[in-house]
Parts: sequence; C-alpha cells; structure tokens
Amino acid sequence: MTRGGFPAPASRFDSVGFSEIVKVRNRVMDLLAAGEKVWRFEGGEPYMPTPQPVKDAMTAALARNQTRYAPSSGIPELRTAIVAKVARKNAIPADKESPIVVNGGMHGLFAAFATLVNPGDQVLLFSPYWTPIVDVITFYGGDPVLIPTKTARAEGLYRTLEKAVTPRTKALYWNSPTNPTGEVFARAEVEEVSRFVVDQGLAMISDEAYEDLIYEGEGHVSPASLPGMEERTLSVFTLSKTYSMTGWRAGYVIVPDRYRTAMRTVVLYSINGVSTPTQWAALAALSLPDDFQREAKEGYRRRRDRLVAGLRAAGFELEAPRAALYLFPRIPASLGIDSRAAAQTLLDRARVATVPGLVFGPEGEGHLRFSFSVTEEMISGGVEALAAFAGRALQAR
Ligand code: PMP
Repeated sequence: MTRGGFPAPASRFDSVGFSEIVKVRNRVMDLLAAGEKVWRFEGGEPYMPTPQPVKDAMTAALARNQTRYAPSSGIPELRTAIVAKVARKNAIPADKESPIVVNGGMHGLFAAFATLVNPGDQVLLFSPYWTPIVDVITFYGGDPVLIPTKTARAEGLYRTLEKAVTPRTKALYWNSPTNPTGEVFARAEVEEVSRFVVDQGLAMISDEAYEDLIYEGEGHVSPASLPGMEERTLSVFTLSKTYSMTGWRAGYVIVPDRYRTAMRTVVLYSINGVSTPTQWAALAALSLPDDFQREAKEGYRRRRDRLVAGLRAAGFELEAPRAALYLFPRIPASLGIDSRAAAQTLLDRARVATVPGLVFGPEGEGHLRFSFSVTEEMISGGVEALAAFAGRALQAR
C-alpha cells in the first residue's frame, strides 16, 4: 500500500512566528529594487566597519591554515581570553570551562533556552522585549510570561515578579541595556531582580548584547556578578555590537557548572563549533584596548541626539535613551496609535522605514523603533522626509 502526499513541518512551528523585523526589511528591499529611495531606520547594526586588527587576524589565521575543526566549545586561546574579560569587565567569576563559544548572540540564546526549557515551563521576561525571545521560548514548548516593565517599575520589580511566579516558573530572561527601548536597569534594580531569582530558585538567561553601548550614567551590571547568581545564570554575550561584527557570527555564553553538559551538547549538535578562523578573529577583538570604542561612541551619541531632535520636530514624543542603538518614541496623534499602520504610512508616504512597536510585545504598541546607528546623511534625509510628511499631515487636517 502507498500513502502519497507530504508530511507537514513539525508541529512545534505551529505557534512560532517568523521575525516581523525581517518582514519589514523585505518590504524595504522590494522598494529599493523598484528604484525607490528609502530612509532606513529599521535595522540594528553598528554603523562603522569591523576594526582592522580583527580582519587581519582572520587573514593571518587563514595563512596559517587554521581552518580545521576546532573543539566544539571553542579554541582554548579564545576561552582563556573570555575568562579574563568577564572577570575584569563583568566581575563574573569563571573557570576555563565556563565559556562556550557560540555562533553569535542569537545562537547563544537558542542554546541557552534549549538547555533550560521543558514543554510547559514558564519563562518570565520584561516587555517590551527583543522580538525573537518569545518565539524561541515557544519553540521549546515553554510559556513566555510578560511583565510590563513600566508598571513593574512603578509598583516594585520584586513584588510584580512575585505575583507572576507559579510552580511552573523555571527561568527569567533578562536584557539590559534593552532592545528596543535603549533603557538600562540601575544596579539596584538588577540586585532586586536577582534577589527574586535566587529566592524563587529560578535560573536566569542574561542577554548582555549591548553591554558596551552605554553612552552616559551608570555602567553595565552583569547579574552573574551578584550574590548567588553565578551558579544559576547563563550570561549570553556577542561580539556583534561591541566590535561591529554582526556578519561574523561570534559570541560566547558563560555557563554554570550544572548546565555545561547540556549546553555543550546543544552547541555540538547544532553547529559543532564556530568557524575556526572566526574564533581567531574574535580573540583579536577581545585583545583590543578598552578605549578602542571611544570615537565610535562619540559618533553614536551624535547620531542619537540628531535623530532625537529631528523626531521631536516632526511631532514624536521621546527622551534620549542612555544605551543601545534605538529610539522608541511614542507615535504622534496624527499617525494614530496602531504601530503597524503608522509604520506602513511612514514607509508609503515618507519612504521612512521603522519597526512597529507592537512586534516587541503589547507594551510596545503606540511606539515605533528607529535605529540611530545609520549614516549621518540617512539621519538628515530621514528627518527632512519626516518634517515634510508632518507638514503635509498638518495641512490636510
Ligand atoms: N540580543 C539582543 C537584545 C539583540 O538586540 C540582538 C541583536 N539584534 C542579539 C541578542 C543577537 O545578536 P547577534 O545574534 O548578532 O549576536
């Protein structure tokens, strides 16, 4: 007997979305292909190129034929440099087996959730949140439990989290500095949330992608540096943002002893190690002097301030964020509160590309995300297009 037909994709995908940010990018690509000019603020990458010493290290690795399989958790030289870096910059105690080298932050997170989440487990996260996180938790059959950041801050983080906890709660996803808001949680807040995680016997996945992109005020605090947290926190780092290495795909996770075997297994079976020449380049990146970013940070600050001023002039309400690459303004009344419709209108009528706030959770509705990490020409052109659009919108009323 024959059956014919085709098997469906695995049912785990039934409730997993595909990044809406990618959908926005595809619409922009269509416009560009049709010869249109688009003012692009929908992205999320450093505006400057990868530092030369990093590129040179890759070339040198190739010349030395360092192109064979590396140990799947990373080359020892890189892991040693990571241990030193997290001890010095993050105050995270680590031994030589703690770091696992991964294919960028996204892969580190995918592997960290694989390590912890069983079907039916709940994972707490503050909202607005970085879009893929809910999908990754759902992929493993977990239930994301959103904690509205604003309300939690007003009512007390510990109290709010305590009300959300159930016997099924397994972990808390933490992201500071935060995408999409550019907010940085204060040390006292990191301490409060960490105390909650310890008191409830939970694990934490701490996404520290923007640790080095803080422009003023108090610096970055790694939860794993706080009492009781080292042995329950998977700290996920990426080279993408700090070193302008988004396309290289390199990152690392500091993994407590009890989760290492699981995490190593996921990394082995998903990628069997990051590309060997890339790991040598990553070592060169970690060896750059601490102040290599000084000029770049000036550039970020200048771009941020210019775009903030331009958006305000066009009727958006916002404060300049302290960190990361994004502005997350409230949408002006003339554009309505539906962020998907507003983003579409701006793209159609001003050729300005943004990400609708709703894709970062219900708490993001009424907002749009703009990246300020673009060329200065993009900022002037985009601001002009927005001002012209705002002028037309006012005339039409
Ligand atoms: N975490 C957050 C909060 C991010 O915004 C990003 C990138 N946009 C990442 C992790 C992952 O970056 P990558 O995979 O390039 O390392």
